[in-house]
Amino acid sequence: MGFVVAIDGPAGSGKGTVTKLVAEKRNLVSIDTGAMYRCVALYLYRNNINLNEIEKIEKCLDEIKIEFKFVENGSSIYLNGEDVSREIRKQEISLLVSPASKIQCIRDRLTIMQREIAQDKNVIMEGRDIGTVVFPNADVKIYLDATPEERAKRRFNQNIANGIDGGSYEEILNAIIERDYRDSHREIAPLKQAEDAIYLDSTNLSIEEVVEEIIKLIDLKKKEN
Ligand code: C5P
Repeated sequence: MGFVVAIDGPAGSGKGTVTKLVAEKRNLVSIDTGAMYRCVALYLYRNNINLNEIEKIEKCLDEIKIEFKFVENGSSIYLNGEDVSREIRKQEISLLVSPASKIQCIRDRLTIMQREIAQDKNVIMEGRDIGTVVFPNADVKIYLDATPEERAKRRFNQNIANGIDGGSYEEILNAIIERDYRDSHREIAPLKQAEDAIYLDSTNLSIEEVVEEIIKLIDLKKKEN
């Protein structure tokens, strides 16, 4: 396995933006595991599969192929050959993804995929359980946080900038609060800070400041190795 940086934290904490920038600066492959959970949710949504139809879900996990394609300034995610990068950000998928990600067989399958991706690459992987479950031995672990209001504001502006209909600020704030609650109270792989993760509160920090802090930790770890 290559060098692994694990970035965990709640929705809208800045993980996505920060992960991409750190990846560029330190030549790491950036992997958005939330997008992988969203792909599964999209597939279930499109095929009208209910979350209590576990056998059907298990079967459909065999039918799903998720791929990242990396371009100069970011990456796109493909579900069975179709670029779904925008589709997975829609509100109906945001509502479905958190209850879907509580399901054991979905988590097991995606955890395997995530470990496979890092087998022969140096990666920075962002999600909810990367430092706790997927890579408990990650070289650097960060838990990135911010207040729910600040996170909703960021998501709202991000959606506008990307031309995505993600709902009003209030809708996003409520959805974020609900999603955080579900993600941190679920039985399997709940969102929580790994004991050995560094806690970074980004509420009053600029993106550049957060990036700088993470780069410092990566460089320090590389010196030690
Ligand atoms: O990061 P993003 O907000 O796109 O993630 C969508 C959802 O996917 C989260 O709310 C969470 O329920 C789920 N997720 C997860 N474990 C991960 C990444 C995301 O359960 N490692």
